[in-house]
Amino acid sequence: MRSVDLATYEDTQPVAARFFQQALRSQSLAHAYVLKGQALASMYRFSLGLSQVLNCTAKPTDTVACGECQQCKWTADNANPAVMTVSRLTCVADDKGEPLGEDALKKHFSKTSSPKNITTGSVRWMMRQVALSSNVARVVIFTDFEESPVSDHPSDIVPPVEWTNRVDASVVQLLVRPLSPVIFNQASANRFLKTLEEPPPNTLFLFLTDAEENLLATIRSRCQVVPFAAEVDPAALMVNEAETKVLSPVLAQLLGGADVYQVQEVLNTSVIDALGLTPVQLLDRLQRLLRLDFVRQPAIEKDFMRYRTQQQLVESARQKLTAKTHPEHTLNDLLFQLQRVG
Ligand SMILES: [Zn+2]
Repeated sequence: MRSVDLATYEDTQPVAARFFQQALRSQSLAHAYVLKGQALASMYRFSLGLSQVLNCTAKPTDTVACGECQQCKWTADNANPAVMTVSRLTCVADDKGEPLGEDALKKHFSKTSSPKNITTGSVRWMMRQVALSSNVARVVIFTDFEESPVSDHPSDIVPPVEWTNRVDASVVQLLVRPLSPVIFNQASANRFLKTLEEPPPNTLFLFLTDAEENLLATIRSRCQVVPFAAEVDPAALMVNEAETKVLSPVLAQLLGGADVYQVQEVLNTSVIDALGLTPVQLLDRLQRLLRLDFVRQPAIEKDFMRYRTQQQLVESARQKLTAKTHPEHTLNDLLFQLQRVG
């Protein structure tokens, strides 16, 4: 299982990542936020990462989750009972707020079209859950989901386990969509305004949407708004295709355990000499390449700590090179260090 460090989100979500780290360190986390942006999948992933940090029982620091404890494992699998996703497709319940049995669930989702909105029953069920006394942090993520066929571009969120239990996830995937007044309407919102105003202790509500106007004013006025950046386009990270072509396999060899002296030989001849890069430029490309690889990995395989260590190693080598300290040694040291991190 992977640990989570909120600092690693700074690459893709600098404002939000710093905002929440600061709030956690100063213990000033509010109980409700609107996460606003176009990158809904990124916002959902961040919400789960934040939930993991909040619930980790080992908690190496205020902003890091261990990835090993039971809470971390549940949250990483999006199967933590303390972390609820309220949407049209999850957290469904009958009008009284009782969870639906297997038959009722089938009936609910077998109608010609999928449910049109978050029902008052779902909100009731969620409220009942957060009202139960507990030592763990409750996180309630309000969002919209849409089911779509699994294509060449699989969704890289970890879907809630209650959804994967119901569908064949090899055929259908969940896309994260923004809340709107149709999806989360006045009737459902009114159900829980009082809870939102005076939430049970240790409860955090997150509302995912693309524009503030898409949330009812009654909800919006009770939340702080945190802006999220647009999703990073992996293609934009690497400027030069020719460089990527040469560097990518060299880096893979190195991280895969190839002989450092051989790798350095290749770097010298085919990268520094052939492409005409200076060692500082080389490290710049290396940083981008590591970032590109990281962004492209499926969420479940992302190893934040490892990525962060790699970036720190390259950055410190780059600083040394900029200060003109023994370029050969610096590069050589870096290659050895990177190989150790793997
Ligand atoms: Zn943990």
